[in-house]
Amino acid sequence: MALGLIILGRQGSGKGTQALRIAERFGVVHISTGDMLRAAVAEGTELGRQAKAIMDAGDLVPDEIIIGIVEERLQKEDVRAQGFLLDGFPRTVGQAEALAGFAGDGLHLAINLDVAVEEVTSRMLARGRADDTVEAIERRLHLYETETAPLLAWFAERGILAVVDGLGTEAGVFERLRQAIEGVQQ
Ligand code: AMP
Repeated sequence: MALGLIILGRQGSGKGTQALRIAERFGVVHISTGDMLRAAVAEGTELGRQAKAIMDAGDLVPDEIIIGIVEERLQKEDVRAQGFLLDGFPRTVGQAEALAGFAGDGLHLAINLDVAVEEVTSRMLARGRADDTVEAIERRLHLYETETAPLLAWFAERGILAVVDGLGTEAGVFERLRQAIEGVQQ
């Protein structure tokens, strides 16, 4: 069966790095909405123009925009054949509900890569990305607690949430993720 995975976690939790490893190990298509939006900004598309100021402020792109992008991406042949790993989506309950509507039975596991706020803040300041100003970091963490954290309960209620401790070495964390994913394959 083609796996349908979601990785959740605060910005700076290491989920981008781990997502690449998961995609490689399990052969699923890695779909990062942040990467898609940054590519649109770099290309100067209409979407990129709309998204840039929102992203720079650390705010969320409106649900109707991001939902349409993900829905379209999930219909592509590579995703149908190989399955997917969503990274950075869903970020709101509205996005999760839309996803459940178009992915339905194809959603197998939502993993919360769990790292405390203090730890992610210092990691983000250290990585020095253009949108990693102190204000934008605080704004994103605040949005994570208010908009994204409720998703954990939403997935738990549907019986597909796994919480994985995100502290430790990259390889150590990956090992825990691998075990969680192999659990749903059996
Ligand atoms: P990320 O690389 O996942 O941290 O995303 C970078 C930025 O893109 C975020 O701070 C948001 O402004 C925007 N973004 C990415 N994914 C979403 C999403 N699912 N919903 C709304 N905005 C998003």
